[in-house]
Amino acid sequence: MRKDNCIFCKIANGEIPSKTLYEDDRFRVILDLGPATKGHALILPKDHYADIFELPEESAGDVMRVAKKMVLKMKEKLGCEGFNLVQNNGDLAGQTVFHFHMHLIPRYRADGQTIAWKPQEVSDEELEEIKNQIVG
Ligand code: 5GP
Ligand code: ZN
Repeated sequence: MRKDNCIFCKIANGEIPSKTLYEDDRFRVILDLGPATKGHALILPKDHYADIFELPEESAGDVMRVAKKMVLKMKEKLGCEGFNLVQNNGDLAGQTVFHFHMHLIPRYRADGQTIAWKPQEVSDEELEEIKNQIVG
């Protein structure tokens, strides 16, 4: 299902042209218009899901299968040495386009990018409490 006025619905379904690296009946992989590095790509489902909370479990598995295929091809063709797979959910988490997408970011030596967080201190008791909160 598409959502009106969703730019990624339009791109994924070919209504708006994009630099497409891969397409099948359910996904399109495109080059990001504001790339972190050379070859930065996005996996878009053709159906509209705002984020991972809405994405069906089966599609989540398929996203990862597409990612695996793409990173192998891109590593070979671009000669990158590493890859970051990034997937933001919610504006608090940095999501700016509210149609599920996974970033495939090729990494090159001295590419000047960092994808990082500041590690916080946590005690064993706190870890135990968090674990129990999630799975207890
Ligand atoms: P987010 O911040 O939601 O995880 O990522 C959105 C990404 O979409 C950004 O990296 C941004 O550069 C990219 N983007 C936004 N609009 C367009 C567009 O119209 N075409 C393409 N190819 N990428 C877009
Ligand atoms: Zn959409």
